[in-house]
Amino acid sequence: MCMNLRRFCSCGRNSAYLSCRDNLLPAEILVNLFCPECQPGSIETDTMLQDCGWVLEYDVDRAQAYFTVRGIRSRATPGFIFDAGYLSWQGLAPGDQEVNTRLHQRLAPLVEQDLALYLKSLRSEWVAHVARLKDAGWRKAQAT
Ligand SMILES: [Zn+2]
Repeated sequence: MCMNLRRFCSCGRNSAYLSCRDNLLPAEILVNLFCPECQPGSIETDTMLQDCGWVLEYDVDRAQAYFTVRGIRSRATPGFIFDAGYLSWQGLAPGDQEVNTRLHQRLAPLVEQDLALYLKSLRSEWVAHVARLKDAGWRKAQAT
């Protein structure tokens, strides 16, 4: 299973939450994960995808084998693996899981006081967060 998978980057200073659609690809298809502090000097676009300074490096040959077995006709490019969600950020960016948890914690006192306001605040703050990600250029946020 690779649901809610947390993976540290190559230098170990940062981590990202990943999701695997349908659990189709095993987590090790993501050969390397680089944060903005440890990103490689050049991007091999055949195997790597860059997203706001983070770099995901995939074993595209093995991914292709999984796709073929499961009848997925698209070619296993980094862009397809990422955009189709087969091995991608959980949420829209690497830190989304923590942002979401912090937001819920911060607004939690409102639940007792004013549930409608709580729900409204939760929604509006999340929308603002997504807008910030979009402005910053995060790939998955562009599609929202
Ligand atoms: Zn790093």
